[in-house]
Amino acid sequence: MILIGPPGAGKGTQAARLVDKLHIPHISSGDMLRAAVKEGTAMGVAADGYMKAGKLVPDDVVIGMILERIAKPDAANGFMLDGFPRTIPQAEALQAAMTSAGYAIDRVLLIEVPDGLLVDRGVGRRNDPVTGTIYHLTFNPPPADIVGRLVHRKDDTAEAINERLHYYSSWTAPTIRFYQDLGILRRVDGVGTPDEVTARITTALAS
Ligand code: ADP
Ligand code: ADP
Repeated sequence: MILIGPPGAGKGTQAARLVDKLHIPHISSGDMLRAAVKEGTAMGVAADGYMKAGKLVPDDVVIGMILERIAKPDAANGFMLDGFPRTIPQAEALQAAMTSAGYAIDRVLLIEVPDGLLVDRGVGRRNDPVTGTIYHLTFNPPPADIVGRLVHRKDDTAEAINERLHYYSSWTAPTIRFYQDLGILRRVDGVGTPDEVTARITTALAS
């Protein structure tokens, strides 16, 4: 399955809850790219500038990375993609790879949150590099004893979030229509507590 939503919609937060229940790997293109930047691989060096500015990393780089990842044995019984595909060429490449492997995407969940809430969600986001937990300074405050180790992403500034929102409406909106036309898109209201959103996702997955 695939999770789609604007930056800060709660994809990472919800994916962590869902994979616990579904026992499938959570494959986040953003997390994989950030790991490549940190390790200083050729792909990371190429992606870094785009990411800092909130721009999309070129399709060929991201497509190669994800197709390689979903071919690994732990993804053989299913996987949850988060942050990929974000463009029509990415969606088409995924569709072709799935078809040739004899698999299909079951569900595409679109988490919808109005733009006005997203800058606050992004600017307050803090990631724990030790446990992977996603905190928010106001909406999901971290325990005091771990605050010192939390990471504030370089692209979680109001400017870069607005740039990502621009790319989302230009490039990801057509991708959403692609899945709508296939009849597998489910829309979920992402406003409310994380528990409320999880409950809506559970209902949407059953429909
Ligand atoms: P995404 O992966 O879509 O960019 P995240 O899951 O990282 O989004 O969430 C962005 C920020 O918003 C994080 O700081 C997270 O703690 C917070 N957040 C997630 N879900 C909610 C929610 N339902 N209400 C308020 N804040 C939320
Ligand atoms: P968010 O959680 O805020 O939606 P992500 O962690 O998914 O952000 O992505 C962070 C950045 O990584 C993006 O702004 C972009 O530069 C790059 N990126 C991630 N996924 C893709 C993708 N599918 N195509 C192109 N660039 C991507």
